[in-house]
Amino acid sequence: MSRFVDRTTLWVAAGNGGNGCASVHREKFKPLGGPDGGNGGRGGDVVFVVDPGVHTLLDFHYRRQAKGGNGKQGRGSMCNGSAGDDLVLAVPDGTVVLDANGAQLADLVGVGTRFVAAAGGKGGLGNAALASTARKAPGFALLGEPGEEHELVLELRSLADVGLVGFPSAGKSSLVAALSSARPKIADYPFTTLVPQLGVVSAGDQTFTVADVPGLIPGAASGRGLGLEFLRHIERCAVLVHVVDCATLEPGRDPVSDVDALEAELALYTPGLGGDLADRPRIVALNKIDVPDASELAEMVTGEFADRGWPVVSISTASHAGLRELTYLMVDRVTGHRAALPAPEPTRLVLRPRAVGEIGFTVAADPDEDGGFVVRGEKPERWVRQTQFDNDEAVGFLADRLARLGVEDALAAAGAKPGAPVTIGPVTFDWEPSTPSGAMVALGHRGTDPRLAKATRINAAGRKSAKVARRTPGEDEPEGEATAELSW
Ligand code: GDP
Ligand code: MG
Repeated sequence: MSRFVDRTTLWVAAGNGGNGCASVHREKFKPLGGPDGGNGGRGGDVVFVVDPGVHTLLDFHYRRQAKGGNGKQGRGSMCNGSAGDDLVLAVPDGTVVLDANGAQLADLVGVGTRFVAAAGGKGGLGNAALASTARKAPGFALLGEPGEEHELVLELRSLADVGLVGFPSAGKSSLVAALSSARPKIADYPFTTLVPQLGVVSAGDQTFTVADVPGLIPGAASGRGLGLEFLRHIERCAVLVHVVDCATLEPGRDPVSDVDALEAELALYTPGLGGDLADRPRIVALNKIDVPDASELAEMVTGEFADRGWPVVSISTASHAGLRELTYLMVDRVTGHRAALPAPEPTRLVLRPRAVGEIGFTVAADPDEDGGFVVRGEKPERWVRQTQFDNDEAVGFLADRLARLGVEDALAAAGAKPGAPVTIGPVTFDWEPSTPSGAMVALGHRGTDPRLAKATRINAAGRKSAKVARRTPGEDEPEGEATAELSW
C-alpha cells in the first residue's frame, strides 16, 4: 500500500573539517626548512535540492539521518586535505524545512532550489598557513571544526492552483481524473487518496493544476482523521472548489451543511504561509447529477450558494455534464489570481540568525558558576573548537586571538577576578590576566620552538602565561578534561 508521508523528521549532520597539519620541511643539509603543514579540507554540506522527479517525502521516512563527508587532514609538504563530499538530497517541490521547534528555515519552491541544511566544518589551517613574521615556525596547527548538526522537520505542502475540498467520496478524485490525464484511485470509502493527486488541466491556452486534497472532514483542523496533514496542502491553492456529493444517503448530510462544515474547518485552520484561507476564491461544484435525486437536490440548493456570491455549477464526473463550465470558471479564477500576484514567488529562505554579529561577542555572568563568566560569540567559540589543548603553543595562539578581539578587556570590564572560571563553548578556563595590559603580551610572540627564544622572553612578562608558554608538549598536559590553564 502506498503510504502518505508529508511530514517527517530528519537528523542532518554535515562533515567535520579536517585538521591542519604541523610539519617542518626536511631536506638533506636543510634540517629545518620551515613549516610545511597543509590545511585540512572542509567538511561536506548536507543540501536539499528540489527535484521534479520526487513527489513525496517517503524516502526520508526510511532514512532518518543524513551525513556529509568529512574533510581530510592536511599533510606535510604543503599537502592540503581534500574537502568532504556534499550530501545532496532530492526533495519535492513545496518542501518546507522547519527546525525542531517548528520555526521555518526554508520554503523550497521551484525545481533546482537549493538549501544548505547543515554546513560542513571549516578545515583547520596547517602550520604553514599560520606562520607569520612573529611566529616563523608554529609548532601547532588548527583543528578542523565539527560540521553543523540539526534535527529538522520536513513538510510537504503541495503546489496547485486549484484545491478540491469535499467530504470523502464526494467525487474529488473522480473530478481530477475527468479533468486531466491523472488517474487517481477512485473508490467508495474514506481516505482512498493517501497522496494528494495533482492533475494538470488544459483549457484553451491555459494550463493549471488541480489537487485532490483528501481527508478533509469535520474536526480536521483540530487534527482529527488525517486532517491537519492534508490541510497543509490547501494552503498554497489559489482557488478552492467545494466538491459536493448531492447523492449521499448518509443521514444528517445535505449539500449546504456539508459545505458549512468544511468552511468551519477551513476557518479554524491557521496557515503557516500564504495568508488566510478565507480570502481564497470559492467555486461550488454540485456533483453526481447523473443520479436523478441528486440533480433535483442540486437545483434546490444552487440559489443558496449563489446568494453567498459563489459561482455554482452542477456537474457529473460520470457523464461529464457541467465539466466544461467548471473548467472555464476555474481558469477565470486562476488567471485572476495570477494577475493579482506581485511576481512569481522566489525561494523563501529564512536565514538562521547568527548568535552575535560576525565579529562580536558577549560576556555574561555564568548562572551556574559563582563569579564565573560565559563568553559567547561565533569567533571565540570557533577558535576554541580549533584549538588543540594539549599543545601549549596552540593554547597561546588562542589566547592571543582572544585578547586581540578584546575578550580580556571585556572580562575585566565585566568585573572578572583573576582565577575566575571563564567558559567559551565547551571549555572552561581559569582566567589569569597576564599583565595589566594583556594586549601587549597578546601580540602573538609565543612559542616553544627554541628558535623563538626572543618571543619566549617577551612572554615571560606574566607569571601564568610564562608557565603556559614553557610547557612542552607531553609534559603537564591537561589530560583532555575541559579545563585548561590559560592566560591572555
Ligand atoms: P473522493 O473521496 O472525493 O476522491 O471521491 P471519489 O472520486 O473516490 O469517488 C467516490 C465514489 O463516488 C466513487 O464510487 C465514484 O465512482 C463515485 N462518483 C464520483 N463522481 C460521481 C458522479 O458524478 N456520479 C456518480 N454516480 N458517482 C460518482
Ligand atoms: Mg479521493
